[in-house]
Amino acid sequence: MSLTLHSPLDMHLHLRDGDMLKNIAKCSASSFSGGLIMPNLVPPVSSKEDILAYKSRIKEAIGDEEFEPYMTLFFKPSYTREFLESIKDEVVGIKLYPAGITTNSEGGVSGFDIDELSPTLTAMSELNIPLCVHGETNGFVMDREAEFVSIYEKLASAFPKLKIIMEHITTKQSVEALDRFENLYATITLHHLLITLDDVAGGMLKPHLFCKPIAKRPEDREALLKVALKAHPKVSFGSDSAPHPKEAKEACGCAAGVFTAPIALQVLAELFETNGATFDKLQDFVSNNAQKIYGLKPLEKSILLEKKPFLVPNDYNGVVPMYSGETIAYSIV
Ligand SMILES: [Zn+2]
Repeated sequence: MSLTLHSPLDMHLHLRDGDMLKNIAKCSASSFSGGLIMPNLVPPVSSKEDILAYKSRIKEAIGDEEFEPYMTLFFKPSYTREFLESIKDEVVGIKLYPAGITTNSEGGVSGFDIDELSPTLTAMSELNIPLCVHGETNGFVMDREAEFVSIYEKLASAFPKLKIIMEHITTKQSVEALDRFENLYATITLHHLLITLDDVAGGMLKPHLFCKPIAKRPEDREALLKVALKAHPKVSFGSDSAPHPKEAKEACGCAAGVFTAPIALQVLAELFETNGATFDKLQDFVSNNAQKIYGLKPLEKSILLEKKPFLVPNDYNGVVPMYSGETIAYSIV
C-alpha cells in the first residue's frame, strides 16, 4: 500500500537555533512542505529584524530542501498597530505564551486583562493576523488546559474577528470549545493522538514522552482522535516537535518536549489506516485545513509513503526521536 501527501504542513514546530537548528532542521524539511516556526528562542523573536534573521538562519540550515518556514512573533501586549503593520507580511501568526508555562516562555503574558490586551489584539484582528496560544494556566498540571478554556472563551468573545488557534490541544474540553466559537481553531500533535499520561508515567518513567502540555486521560485522547481522523475543518496538524539533547531528556530534571519530526507523517499514515480513516482525511488534516485556516499557498511538494517497515534510528545527531529503535509500519520513499 502507498499514498502520496501533497504539500504536508506542520503548523507548530520548534526548530530551535544554533547547533540544534543545524542538527534537526532537515528532519522537518525533508518531509514537510512548510512549518509554522515557534518563536520561543532566548531571547524570543520579537522584532522584524529578529524574524528576518531567524528565517535566514533556518533557510541556511535547511540547505537545498524545499521547505517554507512560516514565521511567528512572540506576543507582547506592547505591540502597536504601526509595528504590526510593519511585520504583517513577514509572519503567519503571533504566538502567545502565558508567562513561565513552557520552554523559554518567561517573557509571556501574566494575567489576561482584556483591557490591557485590547489595543494589540484589536489591531491583529483588523490586520487579520492569527493569534496562536499556548493555553495553560499555572494550576495543577492535569487541569491547566481545561482551566484555560474560560480564557479562550473570554478572548474569543471579546475579539470575534480574531482567529485564535488553540495550540496543541490535549483535552476534550478544548475539543468541545471548538464548536462553541466560530473564531476558535486548533492544532493537534501526533503524540497526543497516541499516548496518555499512563504511557509517560504509568510504568517506568519515559522521559522522551514527557512534554507540555502533559498527555492526559484516555477520554481526552479519544476526543482528539475523533476530530483528527475526520479532519474537522477547524483543526490542523501541528507536531510540536521539540528537540532537546539526549542528556537534557535523560536527566534529573527532564526537559519537556517530544521529537517527532522525522517520523510524524509515517506514523500518522499508520494511525489513520488502523483507525479506518481515509487518506483523503489525512491530506486534509496535514495540509488542506491549514491552507484554508491560515490562508497559505504552500510550496508544491509530494511525499510518497509506502507500507514498508522503517527502523527508527536511535537518535538524530544526539536527539532521540519518538519510537527510537523501534520499527514503524510506513516509510517515506
Ligand atoms: Zn510548542
